[in-house]
Amino acid sequence: MKINLNKILVREVFAGYKDSAEEGVVAFGGKLDIRPKYQREFVYKPEQRDAVINTVQHKFPLNIMYWIENSAGKYELLDGQQRTLSICQYVNGDYSINDHYFHNLTKEEKEQILNYELMIYFCDGTDKERIEWFEVINTAGEKLTPQELLNAVYTGPWLSDAKIKFSKTGCAAYHLANDGGALLSGSPIRQEYLETSISWINNGGVAGYMAKHQDDKNADKLWNYFQDVIAWVRANFSNYRREMSTVQWGELYNEFKDKKLNASKLETEIKKLMQDEDVSKKSGIYPYVLTRQERYLSIRAFTEKMKREAYERQRGICKKCKKHFEIEEMEADHITPWHEGGKTISENCQMLCKLDNRTKSDK
Ligand SMILES: [Zn+2]
Repeated sequence: MKINLNKILVREVFAGYKDSAEEGVVAFGGKLDIRPKYQREFVYKPEQRDAVINTVQHKFPLNIMYWIENSAGKYELLDGQQRTLSICQYVNGDYSINDHYFHNLTKEEKEQILNYELMIYFCDGTDKERIEWFEVINTAGEKLTPQELLNAVYTGPWLSDAKIKFSKTGCAAYHLANDGGALLSGSPIRQEYLETSISWINNGGVAGYMAKHQDDKNADKLWNYFQDVIAWVRANFSNYRREMSTVQWGELYNEFKDKKLNASKLETEIKKLMQDEDVSKKSGIYPYVLTRQERYLSIRAFTEKMKREAYERQRGICKKCKKHFEIEEMEADHITPWHEGGKTISENCQMLCKLDNRTKSDK
């Protein structure tokens, strides 16, 4: 892992400055991606922006910035994006401070800004070292999301292609997942579509997948997989409900894609469970009807009133071990389990001592 401190003049950074909106912002002779393509825009308040220029005009030091050298011999800003943008935008004449644009300044004032030295760390190392280090320094200010950090490390043809499909506003993945009702939450330019898709195809290991495919010519494999997932969902769950947008569809697809499913039977059960007041997490119905795991549903708990009623009815005696306990030492239990039709109502509540209740739920 190499970390070198460099002093670079504002003049050098501003050279070749070009803001192409979603296509990214470049500077430093085109070699620095101040903001990579299709990445969310941080919002810097005018006061923060003005403070940066004031600091430069007073020749006070700005905090150190970090640039990452990526595989293509270009640099990405890991830390310092907003400060760099503020300076470049001011020099470019995009905004004024106290009614003074850059072009209103005297020659000396202009030169002073252009000759200001920025302190920039360049860092270089293995993927793992860089990710670990970035996570440490990425704790304050203009934070990158975990996926944006990975994007800064695993640049290359695969990522460029993946971003076109998954990271642009209105990209193909967005259209596919939203035409007919949203099957994914989050925003493409915050890299959430990309992150979710990779996590689905690789069962959670996002960095590992990106490392393996970094030099692939394109991201067709991921894109084809994503299309298959969405098509599978639309075919098996044809009645759209908004709860579907937070389901981890890829995980279900990976496990059940080869099983024969009966869409109309699934719909009948989903409809019934949607109306079940004991199911507090409605989005969990989709994984539940496939996996039969009740934890997805967050079955409603008994209220304090129901517990007290049962406790009084039992006179404080545990239904299992027949010993007496204080109410704080006991837990409520469904007499008839929920999956056998037992409801979360007073009549179906019994109090067990903690030991017996936990032994019962472990079975
Ligand atoms: Zn007991």
